[in-house]
Amino acid sequence: MVKTKRCLSLPVLAVFLLMIFFYYTTIFVFIDYWLGLQSSSGIFNASIFTLLAFLTLFSFFVCVLSDPGHVPPSYLPDVEDITHESVKDNAEEKKCDKCFAYKPPRTHHCRVCRRCVLKMDHHCLWINNCVGYWNYKAFFVFALYATIASIHSMVLFICCVYQEDWDSDQGSSLKIFYVMYGTILMGMMVTLLTLSGWHVYLILQNMTTIEYYEGKRAKWLAAKSGKSYRHPFNVGAYTNITSILGPNMLKWLCPTAVSHLKDGVSFPTIRDNS
Ligand SMILES: [Zn+2]
Ligand SMILES: [Zn+2]
Repeated sequence: MVKTKRCLSLPVLAVFLLMIFFYYTTIFVFIDYWLGLQSSSGIFNASIFTLLAFLTLFSFFVCVLSDPGHVPPSYLPDVEDITHESVKDNAEEKKCDKCFAYKPPRTHHCRVCRRCVLKMDHHCLWINNCVGYWNYKAFFVFALYATIASIHSMVLFICCVYQEDWDSDQGSSLKIFYVMYGTILMGMMVTLLTLSGWHVYLILQNMTTIEYYEGKRAKWLAAKSGKSYRHPFNVGAYTNITSILGPNMLKWLCPTAVSHLKDGVSFPTIRDNS
């Protein structure tokens, strides 16, 4: 019920319609015009683009429909953490003042979802869901497929621009269509490229978007007192990648291959390695 409700949001519907629009124009306008849908190169390009569009759509709905991660009701913080590391303040910090429950490391309270989310990255309006422990991989893979699809679409669009007969009678109205379409496509491609690049960086560091901003502050505070700060969950680039995308490289781009994920309440840290 909650899952169906998540689909019924204006931004989710807008993304879905946008995908349909770009799919239709890329296949039935640009590929058809440039190569023809009957030619072998036309069929080849249309098949590749259809596969990319399907994978993008599939990953998108995995993001929307997956639960990003609930804190188990029986969760209690590590006894060691409370007794050793400190004191009441620390224990209080580990408690969510809205859910009145303990928060595992990397868990944050989402004001939109009105609950705590395991390894919360951010709340995404476009999927009407939080991006957290269980759907982060699907989100990243979605961004990646959408980026590749937009680049493919851009290449086809540019080829059509070059082939177009600009001196014909329809010249001016065609120009308006091409300029408008090209601007939207370019904007989308740059946004998606930035989003994918940003998450590649975060994955290499084993960092969430929230932790990136927290880390910036922690670094500043550490520098003020003459110390240095290192993100505690950065256990080496390759281990960072496999902890998020999985140990099997062949399944890195499969949004539903998440059997490597554990409970989302504990994570290896640089302290464990030292
Ligand atoms: Zn909470
Ligand atoms: Zn949320």
